[in-house]
Amino acid sequence: MTVTISPAGATDRVAAYTERFAAFLTDEVEPLEADLDRQDVGSPWNPRLDEAGRMHPAVWEARREVQRRSAAAGLYNPHVPSGGGFCRAEMQHVEEFVYRHSGLGLGLAALGWTEGANPAIEHCSDAARSRWLEPLMAGEITAAFANTEISVGTDVLAMQTRARRDGSDWILDGTKAWITNAHFADVVQVTAVTEPGAGTRSLSMFLVDAGAPGFSRGRDIPTMLDDGLTGELHFDGVRVPAEDVVGEVGDGFALAMAWINWRRLCRGGMCAGWGEWLLARAIDRARERTSGGRPIAELQAVQHMLADMDADVYAARAASLQAQAELDAMPGGAFGVPLHADAPRLMSLVKVLNDEAFFRVADRAVQVHGGTGLRLGSPEEKLFRLARNLKIPAGTVEIQRNAIARGLLRRGQ
Ligand SMILES: Cc1cc2nc3c(=O)[nH]c(=O)nc-3n(C[C@H](O)[C@H](O)[C@H](O)COP(=O)(O)OP(=O)(O)OC[C@H]3O[C@@H](n4cnc5c(N)ncnc54)[C@H](O)[C@@H]3O)c2cc1C
Repeated sequence: MTVTISPAGATDRVAAYTERFAAFLTDEVEPLEADLDRQDVGSPWNPRLDEAGRMHPAVWEARREVQRRSAAAGLYNPHVPSGGGFCRAEMQHVEEFVYRHSGLGLGLAALGWTEGANPAIEHCSDAARSRWLEPLMAGEITAAFANTEISVGTDVLAMQTRARRDGSDWILDGTKAWITNAHFADVVQVTAVTEPGAGTRSLSMFLVDAGAPGFSRGRDIPTMLDDGLTGELHFDGVRVPAEDVVGEVGDGFALAMAWINWRRLCRGGMCAGWGEWLLARAIDRARERTSGGRPIAELQAVQHMLADMDADVYAARAASLQAQAELDAMPGGAFGVPLHADAPRLMSLVKVLNDEAFFRVADRAVQVHGGTGLRLGSPEEKLFRLARNLKIPAGTVEIQRNAIARGLLRRGQ
């Protein structure tokens, strides 16, 4: 007799989504990948870069085409209320499926990510909804989230970018750095100081048109991801109409945290999906590769690496699903503004558990593959670099521990 236990979030609509996503990968994504292969421009996640260090335009365009087709097929926005409206536990299953079955292919672009709609922008005005949010959800334009500056990362409230009122408009001045999709974004979600000294109410969030006078794109910032997507943005007296303020003036910190927390929670499905993918590849390799005339899968040293990979993926997935289900049950859910006081600890648990478990998984995946795992551009080598990167953006692992400890120490007070 088989006993089936249905985990949180494994709903019928998740099953329907993943079935349609699998068909989308075969019918729409695979032909686009074959097309890209023929062009000698690198692969979707190991692209060649142009002379300015940006992602090769042909790779970018292939990703854009996947986004447009995914939006048309109703697959691009399951995570936002005005899209599929899936809860976080449901999204963990969706994300795991997408990462596991796309591997490092173009299929990853089919699910709205930094470039698409997100829980923070959902707080925009009706006018901004038709000007920005709806085209983003249709895959017609792309976005960036600009919070970090050269001298300010973790210490968000020390940011220098300022916005001052001019009639009903706002004027923005400052420079943002380390911004994903800086080179291509059509609209930028910018946080800026509107009331110096007001603590967590000192910031506001604005939607800035990349065509606005005074806006310019700066240099690429090459990172170990080597994807030509991270760069600087300059705001030199950029005029922003009142309708492009997101939420209320003073909500910027809470909205930035909604965006950042969304990325933190996405680690659950991302690391489970890629973790399972790496584990499957490691098992295949261990069965095929021989040493002393026997498959290395028969060596206890190798078996233990596979077992440790499984233990890390299983534990991080289970803990993340539990945390996401708890967040879904809280008043306001995972992205409420204001946020439930018990929520930050859970979100930080998801991030730190996944970042560190996935780093160990990616390290062992390289080790099982031996020298082949170190070959530049191999999936193991790429995901090892990516796993190292994960411990910094969307809040470092140290900052997650701060939030977890704060959550624990406020208990009973
Ligand atoms: C590939 C990539 C993409 C990115 N994309 C974006 C993006 O799209 N938008 C955006 O706004 N930003 C983005 N970032 C920026 C990213 O969010 C920051 O790099 C991150 O928040 C860390 O800030 P920092 O680099 O300034 O590190 P620092 O803040 O300088 O931290 C340095 C070290 O000090 C520790 N530290 C600092 N303060 C504390 C503290 N209070 N308690 C304990 N330890 C502390 C940190 O944990 C870390 O170990 C991206 C970064 C990278 C690498």
